[in-house]
Amino acid sequence: MKLSTDFSGLRNLVEELNCAHRTYTPDFFLARRTKGIADILAPFEQLSEGLKLGEDIPLEQIQSRSGVFDFMGQQVIVYMPNQAEKINEVLDEPKSGSCFHLAECKVIEEKRMKTSLADHFIINRVDGVFPVYGIDPVTKKKVKGSSALHVCRYCLEILNYKGYFYLPFSKKKAITEPFDFEAFFENYTSHFKPVLWAKEKSESAPNDDLVRKIKEELDYGCEECGVNLKESSSLLQLYHINGLLSDNRRANIKLLCDDCNKKQLHVGYSYVKRRSILEINRRRREQNKFESVNYQKLEKSADSALFGLISKCRKHNIALPELGLSLLHENKNIDIDLAWTRKKVAILIDLSEQNVFEEAGWLVYSPHQALTQFDVFQKKVR
Ligand SMILES: [Zn+2]
Ligand SMILES: [Zn+2]
Repeated sequence: MKLSTDFSGLRNLVEELNCAHRTYTPDFFLARRTKGIADILAPFEQLSEGLKLGEDIPLEQIQSRSGVFDFMGQQVIVYMPNQAEKINEVLDEPKSGSCFHLAECKVIEEKRMKTSLADHFIINRVDGVFPVYGIDPVTKKKVKGSSALHVCRYCLEILNYKGYFYLPFSKKKAITEPFDFEAFFENYTSHFKPVLWAKEKSESAPNDDLVRKIKEELDYGCEECGVNLKESSSLLQLYHINGLLSDNRRANIKLLCDDCNKKQLHVGYSYVKRRSILEINRRRREQNKFESVNYQKLEKSADSALFGLISKCRKHNIALPELGLSLLHENKNIDIDLAWTRKKVAILIDLSEQNVFEEAGWLVYSPHQALTQFDVFQKKVR
């Protein structure tokens, strides 16, 4: 799905009606997505109808080292298409079917042990519509269709997605109904491969001259967190305040670092690599942006994939971890996603350099390990 529609005519009309920009931003939500997640995942098209686990794809290829499922480095959803004799009910009444899973929750763990995941599909659709089938209880004929399913609460709890575990019922409901797949996938981009997405530019994106002009005007400083990125200016983006990429009036533009840009409302799906966030935090540290930091500021600066863990640490009154640190190894700095330096405990989203840390006397956890073994983990960082 390409979203290259020009809304400028409609915008002019709204302006004529003297409406404030802010009031109609949600209607143009799609306009500021340079690329929808459906486009990003398009090369995995066969996944949009679901692939059978254990048949089309070996079970062991579905991994969840990061907590969230992945297949070949792409984030996917696991669900059970067979609704058996409930099929008519599920087709009539969306959400009455079984739930879909995003993470290695206790339901999935149990199923893995019983090897009963084989009747599950993996899928990457983000429209919330799942192909389902079953048997009509009266005619005994096979019925096929598609239905909206609901998100597994255990998955959100185990990830502590947006602090889900500690939220009151009404706020939990605001996350699950309706469930925003793109926001969820976007939250965890640093866990996944930086693939196949950014080669095309939206036609309405500001031209390079404008980008350069604003970067120079602001001396390569992010207008939100203040980090200076003169030495890595590709980590700076123009953010359109009213959500319209074609509205390049200076008053509508803010220069933001990749991290701050991703965290703005109305950005849509924005892919940011783990190493970009690590670099931004390293530079924030060098530039003393983390002086007098508290949990609130830390949550603002950290990789959004770490938010679940950080908010759990905050709830448990654990000493504040640090961002932007690295370990010097053979004249090379290896960045740490989150560190308790005094305790020599490191959180690494990518565990491929775990050994180097362990040899240097560090205890290493992935965010998921820290969350699932939280009782043990918290003793190590206290
Ligand atoms: Zn689940
Ligand atoms: Zn920033």
